[in-house]
Amino acid sequence: MKYEYMHPRDELALTLERIYNYKMTTTSGGNLSIIDENGDIWITPARVDKGELSPKDIVCVRKDGSVDGLHPPSSEFPFHKAVYEARPDIRSVVHAHPMALVAFSCAHKAPETRAFPTAWNSNGLVGFAPYGVPGSDDLGTKIADEFRKGYDSVILENHGVCCGGESLQDAFHRFESLEVCAKALIKASMIGEPKFLSDEQLQLQQKSYFKLEAFEYDTGMMSIKEKELRCELARFVRRGYRQRLLSGTAGTFSARIDENSFLITPYPLDRHTIEPEDLVMIRKNKKQIGKKPSRALHAHRAIYEANPEINCIINAQPVNALSFSIVNRNIDTYTIPESYVFVGEVALLPFETSFNDFDRLKETFSLKSPAAVLENNGVMVVGKDILSAFDKLEVLECSAEAIIDSQPIGGHVPMSQAIIDELCEAFDL
Ligand SMILES: [Zn+2]
Repeated sequence: MKYEYMHPRDELALTLERIYNYKMTTTSGGNLSIIDENGDIWITPARVDKGELSPKDIVCVRKDGSVDGLHPPSSEFPFHKAVYEARPDIRSVVHAHPMALVAFSCAHKAPETRAFPTAWNSNGLVGFAPYGVPGSDDLGTKIADEFRKGYDSVILENHGVCCGGESLQDAFHRFESLEVCAKALIKASMIGEPKFLSDEQLQLQQKSYFKLEAFEYDTGMMSIKEKELRCELARFVRRGYRQRLLSGTAGTFSARIDENSFLITPYPLDRHTIEPEDLVMIRKNKKQIGKKPSRALHAHRAIYEANPEINCIINAQPVNALSFSIVNRNIDTYTIPESYVFVGEVALLPFETSFNDFDRLKETFSLKSPAAVLENNGVMVVGKDILSAFDKLEVLECSAEAIIDSQPIGGHVPMSQAIIDELCEAFDL
């Protein structure tokens, strides 16, 4: 079931489970709430194991202050209430102690979200609230003051983070993308000097998007190939989320059906719960009626048109590869044979390329040159099918992580040219 159809009890329990399962909080830390149209606040309870929480544990604090539930509300209820009073447009609050954002909170800094477009688009500038005793009205006032200034995400000094949204999913995606941003910035600073996007670069995404005409779509006309690809692509997108290669609504997957058509992920839709029917068909420069395709579709279409052997394209921002893209550095695949054999040489493309330099994209990608780091925008990989593109993405992310992890133990020593020549011969590269 999609989250927007859920009762607050179910949505809160499932979202907290997701936060805990993906290691974005500890069992004792973190609380979420939703304010409904009556002004009643549904909130996670105090002192219940986050790993075992179920919908019946959710507490409702009525507008008149009375409490319905099996447990007392979270001890952080005062700041949730203060945020709703300060910002009537905010209908849900997510608070937790995810590790990378806690690192920023302990360093008394807010992450710079101009590191990549998704972080900026979902968070903008991030506020910073001074320390307050957990559960106190004083902490509530300090956090609400930051939200009143217009911030939607606020780092809490020596504590954690608080994100607001027009829905729980909106607040959750903001929270998740900010944690990815914080992780990538920490890793980026281990391998170079992070670079940040200018206003002009941030506007490029909107400017370069042109609308497509729609065609009437009849599910009765679906070919077996389209059905197979819809199921397979949706399965790999969900797997990409589970493997932390994608987060929230970020990342684009597409797969070619035939010379005139391909399927692509929608914009913006939660990658965690994507289903075959959510994917958008693009045929002869027109989109399936009633659907909103990912904004990367123009770049994908250009690559498909120029390279008939490419049948799948993925844009993604897994944390380690993303940190290379933030320092505008290429990922070295001379690490282990698997990396070089499966991915080969990796290209490094300027940020603007995937928005307005399609000729360069067409020249860069082929089955022999399947991967590129996009400056400040993650990576792009192609493959002869969905599995091979997905595999390259995983290998690339593993190489990036290994190089970063080797920094504190002396740095990585690339394989020699003689070893590469030997691999080329052995694997006919
Ligand atoms: Zn807390």
